[in-house]
Amino acid sequence: RKLRVGVIFGGKSGEHEVSILSAKSVIENLNPLLYEILPIGITKEGMWHTGIGAYTALGTEPPKQLLQQTNHSGSESMITFGPAPTLTSATAEAIDVVIPVLHGPYGEDGTVQGLFELLNIPYVGAGVLASAVGMDKAMMKAVFAQAGLPQCKYVTFLRSRFDKSPEILLDEIEETLGYPCFVKPANMGSSVGISKAKDRTSLKAAIQNAAKYDRKLIVEEAVDAREIEVAVLGNDEPRTSVPGEIISSSEFYDYNAKYNDGKSTLMIPADLTQEQTETVRHMAKIAFQAIDGSGLSRVDFFLERKSGKFLINEINTFPGFTIYSMYPKLWEATGIPYDKLLDELIRLALERHQEKN
Ligand code: ATP
Ligand code: MG
Ligand code: MG
Ligand code: MG
Repeated sequence: RKLRVGVIFGGKSGEHEVSILSAKSVIENLNPLLYEILPIGITKEGMWHTGIGAYTALGTEPPKQLLQQTNHSGSESMITFGPAPTLTSATAEAIDVVIPVLHGPYGEDGTVQGLFELLNIPYVGAGVLASAVGMDKAMMKAVFAQAGLPQCKYVTFLRSRFDKSPEILLDEIEETLGYPCFVKPANMGSSVGISKAKDRTSLKAAIQNAAKYDRKLIVEEAVDAREIEVAVLGNDEPRTSVPGEIISSSEFYDYNAKYNDGKSTLMIPADLTQEQTETVRHMAKIAFQAIDGSGLSRVDFFLERKSGKFLINEINTFPGFTIYSMYPKLWEATGIPYDKLLDELIRLALERHQEKN
């Protein structure tokens, strides 16, 4: 019989909408001859819904592929409502592998991965540890430093410290980093909560804004650089894609430039020398292995203009996955089309599961 694939989307995260778009592309490209799809939607409040009803619950249209599918996942009777544990007892038996197409906290951070570990159900992508480390920019940087990967200067602190003695902290940031600098919530993605600060007033405002998304924050020196990204695919012996470059439509690659204005472009492959290409691909592999990644990751770099050196910015263990997104496009340019990429990710999920058991 066909492999039953649970595709999870939405989620309790600032990247809820992006996840729905990624999952739409995934569902539209899963080979119907090989897979039977069970949609699993998570609302912004964290309620789980399965079957076609998941789409109504999330206030969006189901992809037409699902409506054509003549099996249980389309039938009303299979719809279950409730938090994750309810879902699991009702449908765990019916799932062979899960694709958590979730970005950001409560999805890309090891929480959902932990649930499927407990249920002994194979899932695509990073495990609990790699997901958690990859989501937390402070942890990620500590691990990258340990692996010898160069990065920009940064300061990390808890929101409570800023609340208690803001002026001392602002002094410290000014002394260590100066302006301009980037303020980020430690755990987030899609540039949600990120802003560039040019002086003490805007730094304070930027910290207050980032603090809405996380109790842990990070401030980095602003780097004048080209933005280069590499896709990684595999488990114990990961492969790397050709590098791509982001040409952002605004001062930095913020949420609007990523998803709304349609003016940012992706250069694939990036215009780099052979040596630069090899260097950055090697660094991407080191980063993936440093967090003990599996399945997939997109590693983001800065190619600093003044030094000509690569600095690692971050890793994303479940990067944007629409047909227009960097990750699948990098693999397409490296020789793996979107549908074959999904086949490979599912194969890797089953391989890892088998190795553990
Ligand atoms: P995503 O997960 O969607 O890739 P994110 O929310 O994890 O994004 P970052 O990749 O850390 O956020 O930063 C978002 C963008 O902000 C970068 O692509 C870049 O344009 C800009 N940026 C972030 N940090 C710096 C920095 N230190 N110097 C210069 N630009 C930066
Ligand atoms: Mg990120
Ligand atoms: Mg991300
Ligand atoms: Mg990024």
